[in-house]
Amino acid sequence: MLKITTAAATAMALVASAAHADTFAIQAGRLIVDAAAPERGPSTVIVTDGRITGIEDGATAPAGATVVDMRTKTVMPGLIDVHVHLTSDANLPWYETLRPKYSQSYAAITGVKNALITARAGFTTVRDVGSSGTSAIAVRDAVRDGSVPGPRIEVSGQPLSMIGGHADPAVGLSPELRDAIAATPEMFTVCTGTEECSKAVRRLAAEGVDLIKFMATGGVLDPGDIGLEQHFSDAEMKAIIDTAHALHLKVAAHAHGAKGIDAAVRAGVDSVEHGTFVDAQGIADMKAHGTYYVATLLAFRGAVGMIGKGLLQPSSEKKARQAFEAWGVGLNRAYKGGIKIALGTDAGVFPHGQNAQEIGLMVAKGGMTPRDALIAATKGGADLMGLSTETGTLTPGKSADLIAVDGDPLVDPNAVTHVAYVMVMGKPIPMK
Ligand SMILES: [Zn+2]
Repeated sequence: MLKITTAAATAMALVASAAHADTFAIQAGRLIVDAAAPERGPSTVIVTDGRITGIEDGATAPAGATVVDMRTKTVMPGLIDVHVHLTSDANLPWYETLRPKYSQSYAAITGVKNALITARAGFTTVRDVGSSGTSAIAVRDAVRDGSVPGPRIEVSGQPLSMIGGHADPAVGLSPELRDAIAATPEMFTVCTGTEECSKAVRRLAAEGVDLIKFMATGGVLDPGDIGLEQHFSDAEMKAIIDTAHALHLKVAAHAHGAKGIDAAVRAGVDSVEHGTFVDAQGIADMKAHGTYYVATLLAFRGAVGMIGKGLLQPSSEKKARQAFEAWGVGLNRAYKGGIKIALGTDAGVFPHGQNAQEIGLMVAKGGMTPRDALIAATKGGADLMGLSTETGTLTPGKSADLIAVDGDPLVDPNAVTHVAYVMVMGKPIPMK
């Protein structure tokens, strides 16, 4: 065995780190290090080996650094979308997804495409809250391995649903097809009773998911007339959430109706997704439990664009109209009630890459200030995902997740839709 002296080993390590040190100097005209703090004037963010190692006044550059000249732009923390569906594309008629082409393999390739589109739109972290089988896990791992470019991705895999619920693949099919689907192993994501639901959570955890998503109510685009009220019993919800938390997984609940929202909150869910018809009780309970509200306002615009075009089943059209009438009302209630808010869009219901438009809607429809919308879009998502020590602000020691945009997003919320540069974990995203 080759023996190396301590001094020689240290010297070799120094040579190796000098050879591999990847240093960037991102020079900003205006710098937002923290959406909740005053912005800085011309500044430089120093990035070494994927981490932020310094914030300096003016345009500087250490020797050997790659200079990124964004002196006409605002540099800010990368955006975080906690509700996407990378493996789905928008505006497919409901029957189209039954075609042979839509395998899990095809879904994974769709996800790879959408991961890059989402990163280019300024999102350096996303949470995928519903995909077919293991497709989103494959996308996450391929990006993490550096095989394909994309944001940091966390995934829920298949969401849990009650029989006949929002994620039951057999809903709306003929009895013969329904029975055939019910007999397939993937049906473990439909569960009944506390034992089956705990088992389903453990199976997903063993599959390698980062969080659990369950359907606490029906969905706007579901076929059938089952409505938007509470799905799963209180006990089933508690079993799902307690089992996930014991495995250190956060839990997101899809919920539109007030009773389903409140049941999920009382059972200890970490975030309410959509939250369309949240009432005063729901707001009070969210406040008491520290639950996050994720409005997905863009999803409503996506759904409304599908009305009257034969893309939806008739019962879905009715629910889409009802939900559209409540567009932004729940977010405004949550905002006024002092509830914690994270940005989520439901990209996949509308075309990926438009995610940053959610910030403008949070201001226009939800009544948030541009600054509070930006906090939700950066620090909010990081906190909900348990990533506050890693991302959400430009702080030395954290991962280099940053973007450059035109204009000042603290004044004009639509500034974030003009993205000139994106860096994820210290790696620049190819912009074309
Ligand atoms: Zn969704």
